[in-house]
Amino acid sequence: TPTIGVLALQGDVREHLIALAAADAVARPVRRAEELAEVDALVIPGGESTTMSKLALLFGVMDPLRARVADGMPVYGTCAGMIMLADKILDGRDDQETVGGIDMTVRRNAFGRQNESFESAIDFRGLEGTPVNGVFIRAPWVESVGAGVEVLAEVPAADGPDSRIVAVRQGHLLATSFHPELTGDHRVHEYFVRMVEDALR
Ligand code: GLN
Repeated sequence: TPTIGVLALQGDVREHLIALAAADAVARPVRRAEELAEVDALVIPGGESTTMSKLALLFGVMDPLRARVADGMPVYGTCAGMIMLADKILDGRDDQETVGGIDMTVRRNAFGRQNESFESAIDFRGLEGTPVNGVFIRAPWVESVGAGVEVLAEVPAADGPDSRIVAVRQGHLLATSFHPELTGDHRVHEYFVRMVEDALR
């Protein structure tokens, strides 16, 4: 059974701990570098990415996190956590740093005012059964991805024929614009736990 940490600086930590336990992982909060060293994988929760970024620097976990990502530790980021995993961000605060690791550009608060929060049925590639209920809260979307990034889910754009990328995977890194931890449907967490088990094999 893998031990999966949840970065517990800010955001919806508790909901992820519950979802990971339901997906048969041992879950624990991670605030410091010493705690990060003890987990097999990490979830970066939803919350506020500028605050999370500041706190990660303040707590001295930003560089250890980057080192573990470079070393192949599986990480799953939701919403603000997706922003933290992006190599580039648009509409971020000027000095906002990310952990990075996924070759993508993510736009913060992309769905805009009239759509501050909404739900959408998501066809998530690789998951069996009914669509996933995507809960979006001041969510980012993925503006562009590099060649090594697999797109796992999209939603139709509100203003035209395009679609917006809302879930991606690059090797050991997974990110969603939406919050499966708020729905009671643990399939996305189970998908991540399988990624972690594969990485540990
Ligand atoms: N808008 C937030 C940010 O920029 C993300 C919102 C969320 O995580 N629900 O960090």
